[in-house]
Amino acid sequence: MKLLADSPQDVDIRALMSSDTQGDYIYMYPPRQAYSTIDGRTATSVIDKSLEHTQHDPVNLYLHFPFCKQICKFCNLYAVPLGDDSLFDAYVTMLEREMQSWSARIGGRPIDTVYLGGGTPSLLPVDALDRVLRGIEKTFSVDMDSVAEVALEVAPDTVDARKLHDLQGIGINRVNLGLQSATDEEIRSIGRRHGFDRAQRSIVDALEAGFGNVCIDLIYGLPGQSVESWIATLEKVVALSAPTVCAYPLTLRPGTGFGRRGVSIEGHDQYRKYELARDVLRSVGYEQETHVRYVVAGVGGYRQKVNHWAGQDIVGLGAGARGYLHRLDYRNGYSLRRRKSALVTYMEDMTDGRCPIRSGFELDPDERLRKALILGLLNLDRRRVVTHHGVDPVDAFPGIFDELTSLDLAQVDDDRIALTEAGRKFRDLVVQLFFSSDVWKRIKEFDYSE
Ligand code: SF4
Repeated sequence: MKLLADSPQDVDIRALMSSDTQGDYIYMYPPRQAYSTIDGRTATSVIDKSLEHTQHDPVNLYLHFPFCKQICKFCNLYAVPLGDDSLFDAYVTMLEREMQSWSARIGGRPIDTVYLGGGTPSLLPVDALDRVLRGIEKTFSVDMDSVAEVALEVAPDTVDARKLHDLQGIGINRVNLGLQSATDEEIRSIGRRHGFDRAQRSIVDALEAGFGNVCIDLIYGLPGQSVESWIATLEKVVALSAPTVCAYPLTLRPGTGFGRRGVSIEGHDQYRKYELARDVLRSVGYEQETHVRYVVAGVGGYRQKVNHWAGQDIVGLGAGARGYLHRLDYRNGYSLRRRKSALVTYMEDMTDGRCPIRSGFELDPDERLRKALILGLLNLDRRRVVTHHGVDPVDAFPGIFDELTSLDLAQVDDDRIALTEAGRKFRDLVVQLFFSSDVWKRIKEFDYSE
């Protein structure tokens, strides 16, 4: 990931803002580049201690399905080009085994959200996804009707009206459609074979199928995307009236198709597109929840992300899955360069009863505080931070908050700290101020040839 200076202390927010520097979208802290190799025995021991601390809190499940029709050129998620769909049954069996390994640890805790992500979980037949949900129900003794969000990531060209209807029938209540753009050339430029009409059809079908929440994901900064075509995308999306719209800045990562091609992005252009998304979506009634998410009040949202950013446990299951716990952020085996072998290794781990975790970051109290601030900074409950971390954030980082308020990036009250309108725009710059020196160093030294 792109660091903004040599060290966190050298980050000059004022200069970065005036030079229109764009920061990478930060959705987790510490970023994965800060993880170390961790063996299964150590991971298990840290997880057990961590879960003791949160045993009375709700928990969230993230299940990763690493199969895709193609690898999109911007994407660095763990995905394997689909060769053989006969793997699906075996993969679900392995997920069931991994769930089993967690059942004694978290069984009985209320499950607040379940997210079937990927990859492209919607490639799996409805029966297989139903098996996964029933597996969760049985393994963790949970009534799926009590789970607030049961979400599925959907690629537009993997569903039709019938399949969406059936998915709704098995208990999925939120679908996330990765549209990215409403312009055919831009959709094809990321490596997809379908055009906007096909994607639009699946969004309309999803809305008509009766899901409580439908989310459309967009990306701004795609190669060749002009301001005009971005406005056209926003207008077409607004016309669909989905309860949730997420507009993400393109992040260029080594190892992706765009990264290898040397695609570049202009900060000035990106901030202009951010403002357009914000203004267009707010003008038609969406509420801005974060710097990337816009929701119809009372209907839209992304509950698992809200829970993650609020510090709840997210248990990640599946090949390449990430989990975020009180004391450990972890990742099951993953590789962008050896995609298939990482999947094979996961299947072997599950067959042989081994822990599939390969890397992680153990969080001490200081890193936990930083994580809470970085992920919660958009609207932080100051008293809750004191209760959970034993320190007032302003006392912990007085210089940073002085700077943020003097630049009108944050408003600090007795109860809350919130980013201002300008602070939201520059949020991905601001949060790097809170990175620890250790995390910074690890990111700098990260080997992208993994
Ligand atoms: S963007 Fe989605 S469909 Fe494309 S490779 Fe990544 S996970 Fe797969």
